Amino acid sequence: MIAFTRDGATSDAEYWQNPRAPLTWRRPSAANLEHFPEDIVYATCSSGHTTRAVSSVHTIAADGTMSPSYVCPVAGCVFHDFVRFESWDIAEC
Ligand SMILES: [Zn+2]
Repeated sequence: MIAFTRDGATSDAEYWQNPRAPLTWRRPSAANLEHFPEDIVYATCSSGHTTRAVSSVHTIAADGTMSPSYVCPVAGCVFHDFVRFESWDIAEC
């Protein structure tokens, strides 16, 4: 199990325009959900790939544990592990 920490960005622009630290996460904003209603979290793997997790594939428990395991979908990336998003219960956009 790998713990991901919450990204510190205060806006979508800040989040998407800057490099994201490995092993961090962010909740979709209301604006994100207008376009991608299935999104449940954006997460950055240990190799720095930020990808979307969607509700048709994953669930996240109240304590932040994702099910099933997290497989980075970027071609060539080998990140695959069980993940918990720290501070999931108190997160806001
Ligand atoms: Zn990756």
